[in-house]
Amino acid sequence: MIKEHLIEVNRRIEQACIRSGRDPKAVTLIAVSKTKPVPMLEEAYAAGARDFGENKVQEIVAKKPELPEDIRWHMIGHLQRNKVSQVLGKAVLIHSVDSLRLAQQIETDAAKAGLDVDILLEVNVAREESKYGFMLEEVEDAIMTIKDFPHVHIKGLMTIAPFVENPEENRGIFKKLFEFAVDIDKKNIDNVTMDVLSMGMTGDYEVAVEEGATMVRVGTGIFGVR
Ligand SMILES: *Cc1c(COP(=O)(O)O)cnc(C)c1O
Repeated sequence: MIKEHLIEVNRRIEQACIRSGRDPKAVTLIAVSKTKPVPMLEEAYAAGARDFGENKVQEIVAKKPELPEDIRWHMIGHLQRNKVSQVLGKAVLIHSVDSLRLAQQIETDAAKAGLDVDILLEVNVAREESKYGFMLEEVEDAIMTIKDFPHVHIKGLMTIAPFVENPEENRGIFKKLFEFAVDIDKKNIDNVTMDVLSMGMTGDYEVAVEEGATMVRVGTGIFGVR
């Protein structure tokens, strides 16, 4: 079933790209494998998945040695500062940098380890009380601080849109983040690119792709309900 689901999700991403005049190669599907056991990840790997998303450091630490080395692990969940050192060198991208203190901790730990770390800033576009992330109006100031961190490299932005019945309700959220990223990109800030827009989950990834997502994070749609 995982293989069929992956084929279907990839097909829908491709269709969304065609509808919006985008190159399907510009969108990376991240298989969100949180809470799922290693054999299910092996099945996804066998079906071609190479990018996996986890929301807990301990799950990346536990699963990574069990699976092929060419998997790219994405940290997509809220990251506690005392866990940063464990995830460095294991995740290719931390999507969920939601505070300056966390970015500072990543810089400190990366410097110690002699590593470079690619990050996205998580933006709470919909201003939901329950969500982590910067408010849109805080992001530029954060970027202007983090750009000077020698071991931390901002590659773009991430958002978790609200849970909605109709994905069309989230189109405005995705559009807003895309437009914001375009504005930041135009400023040509040193050590900052806006190449990655991580947005869209099982319920709304097609709309996110139509609005410019370069990474979509799909869990339930590939692995089934958690
Ligand atoms: C769980 C999770 C996802 C995937 O959610 P689904 O609705 O199962 O596709 C995507 N992004 C983040 C940050 C998550 O925690």
